[in-house]
Amino acid sequence: MNKPRILVVGAGPVGVVAALACARNGFTVTLLEAESRVDDSPRAATTHPATLEMIERLGLIEPFIAQGLVARYFYFWDRPALTRIAEFDHDLLRGETKFPFVVQTEQHKLANMGLARLREYPESDIRFQTRVTTVRQDANTVTATAEGPDGIEDFRVDYLIGADGGRSTIRKSIDIEFDGYTWPERFLIFTVTDDFRQILDCCYRNYFADPQEWVNLFKVAGDDGKGRWRVCFPAQIDEPDEHALSDEAIHGRIQRAFPKNGPYDLVHRNLYKTHQRVAAKFRVGRIFLAGDAAHVNNPIGGLGLNCGIHDAMELADTLHQFITGGADESLLDRYERRRRTTNIEFVQEATIANKKRLAESDPEVRRTNRDELRARSEDPVRHKEFLMRTSLIESVRKAQLIP
Ligand SMILES: Cc1cc2nc3c(=O)[nH]c(=O)nc-3n(C[C@H](O)[C@H](O)[C@H](O)COP(=O)(O)OP(=O)(O)OC[C@H]3O[C@@H](n4cnc5c(N)ncnc54)[C@H](O)[C@@H]3O)c2cc1C
Repeated sequence: MNKPRILVVGAGPVGVVAALACARNGFTVTLLEAESRVDDSPRAATTHPATLEMIERLGLIEPFIAQGLVARYFYFWDRPALTRIAEFDHDLLRGETKFPFVVQTEQHKLANMGLARLREYPESDIRFQTRVTTVRQDANTVTATAEGPDGIEDFRVDYLIGADGGRSTIRKSIDIEFDGYTWPERFLIFTVTDDFRQILDCCYRNYFADPQEWVNLFKVAGDDGKGRWRVCFPAQIDEPDEHALSDEAIHGRIQRAFPKNGPYDLVHRNLYKTHQRVAAKFRVGRIFLAGDAAHVNNPIGGLGLNCGIHDAMELADTLHQFITGGADESLLDRYERRRRTTNIEFVQEATIANKKRLAESDPEVRRTNRDELRARSEDPVRHKEFLMRTSLIESVRKAQLIP
């Protein structure tokens, strides 16, 4: 019997993980990426314990940890008072997971290490500068048409995974709605080389509530391993891009939040639109959606990519079970039942709540939020319950129970 052929569209971290997981399951994999290289702009880094368990299953955990930073704690702060409200310690998850910590590894590193491993499978076909333009399917196959360096080519396979990001061509070509909304304010991300531990008694992941301007502050290793800090602010709703990204506005913003003598050493700046959207379907026939192609959310809490990786692993396992186990087609819908439900009930809800908590302007609600976070961190049972949710262990276990 010929090996099942899987086409993965998009070599972002989710597409690469899906492709590698499928190759490990014995499928013949083709991976098509529109750009000439993996995108290394600063996006996801925070990788939660449940996701680390999956990265271990892929055989990548050692390089993944080696190229990142282990972040045992995360802190909540009140920005106007510059006071630490609550500290959470993943070590309480010892016994629940082999990885009682978060790892801060930039997403392009995961994509690149996954690609290197995928190249070890002689039948895998990886093509850059190859953009899928349309897809069609019949009862037995899916065909994707792509434009590459040598012209237009058709790829006929058994199943297709659309991991082509938030603007997914695959999602659009099969007419799936992307329901939800876009936040009116964009998110600013600045990267500096200054060591925030010299400026503030912080840890590697910090969330600052402020009705005027909340902040997220976290550390990544950087490509040179020397360490970089990323600072994320909301832009003002009516603030022009040129102003938000100007040197003057950026340095003013960071200095107002974290004053220090002398200018910050700014090495990267970016402005993102953020959305809360979930595709109306994750599967149509032989075509599946995963990662940002299926769902997008604001980055507070670091959940988007983590959940995309969970999609990729669940999908590779479902296809394997379906193809090798001779199950009927309804098994394929389990992917949507598990992953779409988890996204709506957990990821969307949690990220919207995270943003609301940081931006809350009512003084009474702000006080209640502070008291609640403090009480939760001081009670070991509630502290651990909270970590079980933020670490995604609870949502993964719950999803596994969906038949
Ligand atoms: C500022 C910021 C911080 C974030 N922080 C975190 C975090 O800490 N933790 C977390 O879990 N998430 C985080 N996220 C979210 C995370 O970055 C995304 O969820 C993640 O990039 C999704 O990966 P993906 O592979 O699904 O999509 P993408 O990374 O968008 O990759 C899609 C790929 O498909 C390719 N492609 C597109 N169209 C085609 C086509 N037609 N043919 C072929 N290829 C195509 C693209 O070129 C791209 O390489 C953050 C996001 C932002 C903006």
